Amino acid sequence: MKSEWDFRRDVVFVCRMLYDRGHVTALDGNVSLRLPDGSILLTPSGCCKGFVTEDELIRIDLDGNKLSGYGKPSSEIRMHTLAYRLRPDVGGVAHAHPKTCVAFSLAGVPLNDCLMPEVILSIGSIPTASYATPTTEDLPKSLEQYLASSDAVVMERHGAVTLGRDVMSAYFNMERLEHAAQTVYMARTLGSVRSLPPSEVERLMRIREDLGFKSPAPRCHVCGTEQAHDASSH
Ligand SMILES: [Zn+2]
Repeated sequence: MKSEWDFRRDVVFVCRMLYDRGHVTALDGNVSLRLPDGSILLTPSGCCKGFVTEDELIRIDLDGNKLSGYGKPSSEIRMHTLAYRLRPDVGGVAHAHPKTCVAFSLAGVPLNDCLMPEVILSIGSIPTASYATPTTEDLPKSLEQYLASSDAVVMERHGAVTLGRDVMSAYFNMERLEHAAQTVYMARTLGSVRSLPPSEVERLMRIREDLGFKSPAPRCHVCGTEQAHDASSH
């Protein structure tokens, strides 16, 4: 059985990966993990994720009260507690500022087209939450409708938040999200991008269901219906 220190090591490992892969810079981002007793391990405010250590992590409850630790919890504490309250299946949350995802949101281009089968199977829907001022109550409010059913949400002009059954899964979803955004960006520089045919999207959605994924399959970003179809038909 894993000790609390093992879980702390997992959070620190994910922080290092986010920093090393350039998904966060300086003091950006925050990472959390739900411990078996239901309390949350969270990165402290004002720490560089490339250098944070296991003993610096703060333990909080689902209401955001500090249970142990010396520092101040991350300023985005409410985003993390909201995700755990909405999603009992979630054991880890990562927030970062992946460049390509942020660039898409600055340009007003959604990432919710049905383009790549692996993205549909692994992440499902990629909604973009409207802009909200960081560190304020507005930020979790802007995410609430998406976090209930999506494992990866782009935050307009800011970054992304990803969820997973554990903290490594949350990290992998961040990596998948940014990789998908980079691929779409490259494709768009080469020419027009075509969506998968609706019949294939439906097939992937069935496979996804069989694989037991909790988050929903992509919705059409143009009309918002659950029935995915080629956006160019609008
Ligand atoms: Zn941020």
